[in-house]
Amino acid sequence: MTVDLIVPCYNESAVLNMFYNEASRVADSIKNYDFNFIFVNDGSKDNTLEIMKELAEKDKRVKYISFSRNFGKESAMYAGLKNSSGDYTVILDADLQHPPALIPEMLKAMEEGYDCCATNRATRDGDPFVRTFFTRRFYSFINKISEVNMPDGAGDFRMMNRKMVEAVIALSEVQRFSKGIFSWVGFNTKWISFNNVERAAGQTKWSFWGLLKYAAAGITAFSTFPLKVAIYLGSLISVSSFVYLIYIVIKTLVHGKDLPGYASIIAILLFLGGCIMLCCGIMGEYIAKIYIEVKNRPVYIIGETNIDKPEHDYGR
Ligand code: UDP
Ligand code: MG
Repeated sequence: MTVDLIVPCYNESAVLNMFYNEASRVADSIKNYDFNFIFVNDGSKDNTLEIMKELAEKDKRVKYISFSRNFGKESAMYAGLKNSSGDYTVILDADLQHPPALIPEMLKAMEEGYDCCATNRATRDGDPFVRTFFTRRFYSFINKISEVNMPDGAGDFRMMNRKMVEAVIALSEVQRFSKGIFSWVGFNTKWISFNNVERAAGQTKWSFWGLLKYAAAGITAFSTFPLKVAIYLGSLISVSSFVYLIYIVIKTLVHGKDLPGYASIIAILLFLGGCIMLCCGIMGEYIAKIYIEVKNRPVYIIGETNIDKPEHDYGR
């Protein structure tokens, strides 16, 4: 049996060797399985690619794929999955925040007959407080409004069998949100938890703004609830203005006409204008997604690789 380790890397020269040593130590301690590394260089600006090449030089199990520019972790994971052929595939971060030491436990789950062994972080120790707070809110929100279930703390660190990998690859959308995709494809998943560790070296690639955009992308990718908000809001406003209309008619009939009312008219006008723009904005978000998806552009473009493959793998 073979196991592929997919490692997306963006400016990871500070930890890549450390990662390789730790992962191969774990791999060598496991009997009956052959391991392969698939490092995906996501347009790093440091010497991450050189380190990958050095590793490939001294270890035949090391494969690398280097993108023509930075396409994001989602694209890097997709490229890794598309180019993996092992019976089992593990996706893990280069910064050792996803301990390779869990791999034996994952293999045990697969031997028990699970299609997937996923991990969630038991704690978020070491993450900034604001990030933890908003991440929690995000998970409780998205689980309420979308049909897929994403447990809080579920990361991309997981082992999947071939069946599931093929299913994940079949979802070839350009704007990928893997946490949702993994859950959407289904399959028998065993969850194990691990304690959060701080990254071994180097820096996180996520800014608060970046995470916020990622969260919004996740919501629009797996839920049409925001579109329904427009309908609810519209209905609410229509009903209340109808009630108000009846009130005015009766008031005019009883007390006669009165002219003043400038303030209330302006207030209502501004409120309605705001609602209309909000709804247009929500629709615009979805139309933008359709636009990008319809263009059907590649998910990634490979600059160089040591994997034997057809010339033009654009991840489509
Ligand atoms: N990563 C990537 N492309 C990017 C950003 C990140 O391939 O554009 C990789 C990164 O090299 C690391 C993993 O994704 O292996 C997780 O990134 P990071 O540790 O910065 O995120 P955090 O652990 O802080 O959520
Ligand atoms: Mg990390």
